[in-house]
This record gives sequence, structure tokens and C-alpha cells, in this order.
Amino acid sequence: MKTTHIPPDWAFEFHGHRCPFMPIGYRMGKLALEYLNVEREKDHGFFVFPEIGEGHPQACMADGMQAATGATYGKVLMAKTFYGKLAATFFHPQKSAVRYSLRPEFVDAFGKFEFFAYRKKGVEPSQIPQKLVDEVINWVYEQSDDSMFKIEPRPDFKFVPVKGSFNKDKCSICSEYVFERYLRMKDGKPVCIPCSGYEK
Ligand SMILES: [Zn+2]
Ligand SMILES: [Zn+2]
Repeated sequence: MKTTHIPPDWAFEFHGHRCPFMPIGYRMGKLALEYLNVEREKDHGFFVFPEIGEGHPQACMADGMQAATGATYGKVLMAKTFYGKLAATFFHPQKSAVRYSLRPEFVDAFGKFEFFAYRKKGVEPSQIPQKLVDEVINWVYEQSDDSMFKIEPRPDFKFVPVKGSFNKDKCSICSEYVFERYLRMKDGKPVCIPCSGYEK
């Protein structure tokens, strides 16, 4: 049976190319919202922690998670853990947290598609023949949630978001505004981080 959690066209447009990982992240996000019984986030109340790192190809999943949940990187609702794992924890402070990971058996079967032979040769997804891209995407759509995902409730998961503040001051050197948590003091005057000469 085909999944109903298929990304809308705008999600592919946002992502930039057609690939199978963005839709997997999208589906993870949709399933996590259902599991936690919450709506797509409008404001600042839902968090996603993908365990993806850098320097490996599946980072595309994080764009799907953002599209599905509304927990965007820009709103600081998403932070990668850089564990280099195909998993993510979804957290709603008033509800709970749940971790979704890709089953190794699924990853193995998935990796046999010709799409990945091109990827391993360094061909970017937008340059891979459309037929091969659609083949692997459609196969993913036809796999059951159970065969793809391991689901682990994380009732003890803790995360305290940074408290928001509108307070700001001007840097005494470059005169640009700086939000207060990022102001540093130099010779008794407020400065921005680049002007301070300090590390963050
Ligand atoms: Zn992609
Ligand atoms: Zn400055």
C-alpha cells in the first residue's frame, strides 16, 4: 500500500531536486506529528533533532522534516546532533518526544537502486536520469511504515529552548545593533563578537 505522506510539489521546489531522502524525512516528520498528536508547527513550539552529520549524502532528509513539521532551521527549531545516523528525535514540550530511525534492512534494500550507483560516482540528483529517480522514490512510497522505521518513545527527553529577548545595543566599534546575549565587553564598552577579537 502506498503511503499517504507524500511531499507536496512545493516541498520538492524548496528542496531543489527530486530525490528519495527528502520524502523519507517528510514522512518521518508527518508520522511523528501523528504519533505526538500535534499539528504542523506555526510558531516556536516544536523541535526536531536530526542525527544526520555532514559529509554524507542523506542530509536531504532534514529538508523533508522541516517541510512536514514546520520546525524550520531558520526559526531555530531544528538542530543537528552530528551523530552521522539516519534518525531524528521530534519533541513537543507540552507532549513528549519520539525518535524515528531508518531500519538497516530498509537502508540495505534501498541502497541497491541504480540511483545510488550514480550518486556514488558523484553525480548530483538533478543530473540523474528522471526514470531512475522516480523508480527509487516510488519504491519508497510503496514500503510500509513498519518496514522503514523503528519508533522509540523518549519520555525522558529534555530540551530547554533559549529564552527570547528583544534587548539589543549598538557595538561601540562598528555601530551595528547586536542582540544582548551576543554582546561582549571590551575596555568597558559593548562590542559585537567580530569586533571583540574573542571567539564565540
Ligand atoms: Zn535531496
Ligand atoms: Zn562591531
